[in-house]
Amino acid sequence: MTDPTCIFCKIATGAIPVERFYEDDLVLAFPDQTPKAPTHVLLIPKQHIPSHAHTGVADEGVLGRLMTAAATVARDRGLSEGYRLVTNSGEQGGQTVSHLHLHLLGGRPMGWPPG
Ligand code: AMP
Ligand code: ZN
Repeated sequence: MTDPTCIFCKIATGAIPVERFYEDDLVLAFPDQTPKAPTHVLLIPKQHIPSHAHTGVADEGVLGRLMTAAATVARDRGLSEGYRLVTNSGEQGGQTVSHLHLHLLGGRPMGWPPG
């Protein structure tokens, strides 16, 4: 369920301490250590899923929970003007940590298309 070599698994288990903005049985939200916007929160499943590309119907519960948790965190953090959710998947998608995560970005206007 968790990978002892994975940095986000270490965060999920508490081996690496972070500020826990939101947590339930399936997911955890914490601040990105290199924020790309005034608000930059990461939302992760507590179980080790390497990327969005590794998900399937069996993961619908945790994927749904990530989305609803993101809405809760966005409300909690006052992002009433809007925000962006991003998941980078694989090398061309720009993924650098191989544990599925949503980026919740807010507090400034977002450009489109993304780079
Ligand atoms: P990605 O490039 O989409 O895989 O996103 C990985 C994100 O994880 C980057 O925005 C990093 O700043 C962030 N990150 C990496 N290590 C940590 C950490 N220990 N605590 C918080 N954020 C981290
Ligand atoms: Zn992991």
